[in-house]
Amino acid sequence: MDQKIQSLPAKKNIALVAHDGKKAALKLWCSKHLTTLSQHTLYATGTTGHLINKTTGLEVIQLLSGPMGGDQQLGAKIAEHEIHMLVFFWDPLASQPHDPDVKALLRLAAVWNIPVACNEVSADMLLSSPFMNAELERSLPDYEKYLATRHITV
Ligand code: PGA
Repeated sequence: MDQKIQSLPAKKNIALVAHDGKKAALKLWCSKHLTTLSQHTLYATGTTGHLINKTTGLEVIQLLSGPMGGDQQLGAKIAEHEIHMLVFFWDPLASQPHDPDVKALLRLAAVWNIPVACNEVSADMLLSSPFMNAELERSLPDYEKYLATRHITV
C-alpha cells in the first residue's frame, strides 16, 4: 500500500498499559513524568488507568480491562488515528491469557507507525524528545488512496 505523510499533533493522545507484573513500574514512571503527561490526553486499559488516576491524580480515560477487551479497544483507536503514542509495559516474564490481543495491539501500532515504548528506558527517551510537545511528521498507509483506486476482480 502507498504511504502518505500525516502529522501527529503537539498535544497527543497517549495510551498507557501495564501488565500486572509491571503496574508498579508504570505507576512510578507516571509519577516521575507527571508534568509532561498532564499536558496530554491519557487513555489506558481499565485497571492500569484506575491505578494511575488513584496514585497520581492524572486524568485518564479508562477503557475495559485488558483481558476483557481493553487492548483491542486501544488497537481500534490506533487504527482510527485517535491514539498517537503507546507506552506499554508488558511483562516478558509472565504468560498472559490475552496474549493474542497484546500482539494485535503492538501490531497495529507498527502498522500505523505511532511511537511505542515497551520498557521504562524507552519511555524515558520518548518523553525527553522535543517532539513530545511539537507536531511530528510520520508516514502511514494511504488507505483512502487504496479505497479510491482498488479494483475488485471476481
Ligand atoms: P489492565 O489491562 O490495565 O486492565 O490490567 C492491561 C493488560 O493486561 O493488557
